[in-house]
Amino acid sequence: MTEQTRKVDSPLHPTQTSRLTPSQAIIIGAGPAGLATALRLQQKTNIQSTVYELRPEPTTLGGAIGIQPNGLRLLDRLGVYDAMCGRGYGGANLTLHSLQGHVIGTSDYVGWAREKTGYGYMRIKRVDIVDIMKAKVDEAGIPIIYGKRITEIQEEGDGVTVRFEDGTVNTADILFGCDGIHSFVRSHFVDPGYLPEYSGVSGLGALVPGQVLSKGHLEMMTGLEGTLTEEGMLAVNPCAPNKEEVFMFFSKWLPIPETGDSRDGWEVHRKEEVDGFKDQLMGILKNARGDWGDALREVVQSTSSVNFYPVYRLPLGGRWSRGRCVLVGDAAHAMSPHAGQGVSMAMEDVFLLARLLEDPGRPIDEVFQKYYQIRRPRVDSIFTMAAQNAQMRKQRTSTGLWWQELKLSMMLNVSWAFGLDKRGLNQGHLVYDIEEVEL
Ligand SMILES: Cc1cc2nc3c(=O)[nH]c(=O)nc-3n(C[C@H](O)[C@H](O)[C@H](O)COP(=O)(O)OP(=O)(O)OC[C@H]3O[C@@H](n4cnc5c(N)ncnc54)[C@H](O)[C@@H]3O)c2cc1C
Repeated sequence: MTEQTRKVDSPLHPTQTSRLTPSQAIIIGAGPAGLATALRLQQKTNIQSTVYELRPEPTTLGGAIGIQPNGLRLLDRLGVYDAMCGRGYGGANLTLHSLQGHVIGTSDYVGWAREKTGYGYMRIKRVDIVDIMKAKVDEAGIPIIYGKRITEIQEEGDGVTVRFEDGTVNTADILFGCDGIHSFVRSHFVDPGYLPEYSGVSGLGALVPGQVLSKGHLEMMTGLEGTLTEEGMLAVNPCAPNKEEVFMFFSKWLPIPETGDSRDGWEVHRKEEVDGFKDQLMGILKNARGDWGDALREVVQSTSSVNFYPVYRLPLGGRWSRGRCVLVGDAAHAMSPHAGQGVSMAMEDVFLLARLLEDPGRPIDEVFQKYYQIRRPRVDSIFTMAAQNAQMRKQRTSTGLWWQELKLSMMLNVSWAFGLDKRGLNQGHLVYDIEEVEL
C-alpha cells in the first residue's frame, strides 16, 4: 500500500484530508454486523473505521432475536454481553405444546453447549442489541454517520472510494459491506447478479408487555414455547428481564402474491395479514384446549400492533469479495431465521476478518480468500439446517399435524430418556469457536 493523501468531503470532517494508509476502513451499514466490525477492528487491528448508515437514526424496527452460545460468546468478547444480559431474557427451555392442551416434549436444547462454553441462549429485541453496540462504538470514539445513501463504489489501485447522494466522498483501504440482505455493496459492486429469493415462509411478530398477561400464563412461559398448528408454527418467548416483554411470532408458508414479488406486490399480503391477524390467529386457536390454549388466546388478544415480514434469503453461492470490498453478515449470506443463527453468523464473520487483518503484512486478497474458504462450509451447513427447520412451518391436515406431533414427541422424549441432549445431540454447531479455527 502506498502512502498518499486524499481529499475527503464528509460532514464529519468537511475539509480534512485522509491519509491513505492500510489503516482506513469504510463500513456500510450500522446493524449488528457493521457495529461489531467497527468494534472488533479497533480491538484487534490498527484499522480505523467510519460507519455509514442509510437510515436517519438508529432503527427501532425488528422484533426479538434469539442468540445461541456460539454468538453470545463472541458478543462477550466484544464487550457487550453484560449489557445485553440486562436487557434480554435468558431462559433456554424449549417446550413444544399441542393445541390439545398437552406438552409434546421439552428440551434444554443448549444445555450441553452451555456446559462447554459457559453461554446459553438469549432472546433480546433487535433494537436493544443495536442500541448496546452503538453505545460501545460511541464510547470507542468511532464515527457513525446516519442518513447516508451510497450511490457509487469505485476502486482504484490503492484504495476504494464511495460517493454518497449528498455529494460527499470518502476513500479507504477496505470497504466492509454490512448493509444487510438487500446490500448495495453486493448488488452494485461485489456480485450484482446474486439476488435474494423468497424463502416460502412469512411471519407475523408482535411484542406484548408482560404486565398485561395474567401471572399464571406468564409463569408458563419459561423459554421458547412453540405450538404447531395446521397453518404453521405459533411461538412465544419472553424477551426482557423478569418477562417484562414477550415476543409472539407466527410463521407459515405463504406463496408469492399474485400481484408480484415486489414491495407493492407484498403490500397486498401485508395488509391482509396485519389487518386480519387477530381473527386469523383466534380462528386457529378456537379449539385450543387447556391452560396453554387460554394463554395463547390471551397473548393474541393483548397484541396491539403486529409486523408482517416475508422471509428472504440469499441462495447458496455467490462471491463475498471483490478487490478491496468484502461482504459481512446478511449482505453475504442471509438465511432463513429458523436456525436462530443470523447474528451469530455475522459475529463469526467479523471475528475471523479481524483475526486475519491483525497481521498487517497479510495481503488483502489473501485475507478475503481465507475468509471465504473458512466461512463458506460453516455458513452452508447452517443455511441448510435453517431451511430444514423451516419445513416445520408447512401447512398440514389434522392427520398430518398429528403425525408431526407424534414424531416430535418421540424425538424429544427419546432424547430426554437417553440423555442425548445432555450429550450434545444437535448442539455441535453451538460450541464452534471461530477464534480456534486454524488460519
Ligand atoms: C423475521 C426474522 C427473524 C430473525 N430471527 C433471528 C433470530 O432469532 N436469531 C438470529 O440470530 N437472527 C435472526 N434473524 C436474522 C438477523 O436479524 C440477521 O442475521 C442480522 O440482523 C444480520 O445483521 P446485519 O448487520 O448483517 O444486517 P442487518 O441487521 O440487516 O443490518 C443492516 C444495516 O445496514 C443498513 N443499510 C442497508 N442498506 C444500506 C445502505 N445502502 N447504506 C447504508 N446502510 C444500509 C440497514 O439500515 C441496517 O441498519 C432474523 C431475521 C428475520 C428477518
